[in-house]
Amino acid sequence: MFIEVLLFIFGLIAGSFLNVCIYRIPIGESVIFPRSHCPKCGEKIAFYDNIPILSYIILRGKCRKCGEKISLRYPFVELLNGVLFLILYREYFFSPSFFLFLFLSEILIVLAFIDLDHRILPHLLNFGGMFISLLFSPYNVIIISQSFLGMKVIKVLGLDVSSFNLPVYITSFMGAFLGILLFVIVAVSFYLVKKIEGLGHGDIVLIGFIGALLGPMLVFYVISIGGIIGGLVGAYLIFIKKKDKMYELPFGTFLCGTAVLFVLFGMRIISKFLAG
Ligand SMILES: [Zn+2]
Repeated sequence: MFIEVLLFIFGLIAGSFLNVCIYRIPIGESVIFPRSHCPKCGEKIAFYDNIPILSYIILRGKCRKCGEKISLRYPFVELLNGVLFLILYREYFFSPSFFLFLFLSEILIVLAFIDLDHRILPHLLNFGGMFISLLFSPYNVIIISQSFLGMKVIKVLGLDVSSFNLPVYITSFMGAFLGILLFVIVAVSFYLVKKIEGLGHGDIVLIGFIGALLGPMLVFYVISIGGIIGGLVGAYLIFIKKKDKMYELPFGTFLCGTAVLFVLFGMRIISKFLAG
């Protein structure tokens, strides 16, 4: 229980840092300096007013100096991240996968909210996430459990690799490749039929990241479920909320959100459908 409480607190503190990243990365500010300040009056936020969740409650969601409203988003992201830490620990304990998934989930959360706010997916996070997912795939249990797919490819190619983690690397690469391929096909068909960019470059790199992280089997689930959620939200906005038809959906947000759920419960899903 002690470990869980500690992890939850770490999660809240890390969540507080995620808020800084979400706010500053898209506008090109350093995430380390200067200290956080109120966007309206510029007052530096004292450490005692920067305690996750608690400060928001104590200050009743307002800046201490000027009374500007603080978005409910800040405590929400902190809480979300605390819960993420707990679930990851419950699913993976302190395995190498735990630390890998923790780090990459944080990137996905930051990407999700940046896309929601700005409709952009910064390359640094996208490519960085993909690179780390590929490089550390031998520590990723979700990829390892699909590595029989990589093995098949190796057999087809006639390679002999009894040692080394080649099947795992290839499986991670296959996930990235298949995700990107599918999105490129969708993007090109959209462009040919509708003459509009249905999928941005950011989305295409993002699915490469998610594919490298979750492997060739789960990446299709993420695309399908992310697409369905996106479609439902889009329909809701256009038909119920009467938004303009050109309203651009933050598709990356749906993909990242779905991907985080699959990171959390990926092993359960895989063991179910590898067994059945
Ligand atoms: Zn203020």
